[in-house]
Amino acid sequence: MSERTIAPAPILGSHRYDRQIRAFGQAAQRRLAELTVAVVGAGGGGSLVVQGLAHLGVSRLVIVDPDVVESTDLARLVGATASDVGLPKVEVARRLVTSLAPDAQVDAQQACVLDLATAAPTARSVLDGADVLIGAVDRHAPRWALNRLAVASSRLYLDIGVELSRTGPAGDLEAGGHVAIVRPGGACLRCQDGYDPTLAAREQDPLTRAARRAAGYESSTSSPDTAASVLFLNQAVVALALAELVNEISPWRAPATHLLLDLARHRLSTLEATSDPRCPVCGPAASPPRTRPEPEADDGRGPRIGDLT
Ligand SMILES: [Zn+2]
Repeated sequence: MSERTIAPAPILGSHRYDRQIRAFGQAAQRRLAELTVAVVGAGGGGSLVVQGLAHLGVSRLVIVDPDVVESTDLARLVGATASDVGLPKVEVARRLVTSLAPDAQVDAQQACVLDLATAAPTARSVLDGADVLIGAVDRHAPRWALNRLAVASSRLYLDIGVELSRTGPAGDLEAGGHVAIVRPGGACLRCQDGYDPTLAAREQDPLTRAARRAAGYESSTSSPDTAASVLFLNQAVVALALAELVNEISPWRAPATHLLLDLARHRLSTLEATSDPRCPVCGPAASPPRTRPEPEADDGRGPRIGDLT
């Protein structure tokens, strides 16, 4: 994690974090209070992330999401009520954080992270001020942007994703998720097969986006949100991510690089990942950051993630 000059943190409550301090110590609690964390995505997963960060005592949050609350979000959007339909998700997240931690500083940005991550340095400063990036998004292009930004600025980046679907002839329910941890000098999200560069480019192609909107897959103001989703799966995956963040602040076990949760089979796996020397993001010949994702040639490489450990 990079060293940054930061302003004094709000005073820690005398008893509020007592039981956390018993677990991780005063120094860890102070470090949490000094962190600035950017949470990209304030939907089902992101709302749980900001709730968890507020409870942990992270007092500076940047929350980025372009969408507004829809009625179909209410079953899993933590902090939202029926009267919030139509409000920006980032405003619901801001209210949630400040209700839990009145001293917290929240910079709520109703924006697409692609626009922020690839903007001029002045506009990007909202993200540049964060020590840690946490992505809770469901598309390839935002993951592409966050990965580029994290690697270029040597910052810790945690990517959260969930999968919930019915598959196979019997329609078995698959429920799982992942937490990918990108550390300075470590395998980037691309090397962890965390996103598909070709799909990232396709998501950003103007003609493709217009066609999807015409077909009813995407409104002009919100992302497609038709996939199955349930609160308890988001909670399980976000809990893994927050535990990993605390472990970075105050190590209490070996660090993980890529965690896979399979709720259908009661299985939690850790995968190791190594940086591909040919990786255009984290490899030695990494190209300068581009403004938009472009399809990358299929180099025939196999999965970058090794065997289960
Ligand atoms: Zn890489």
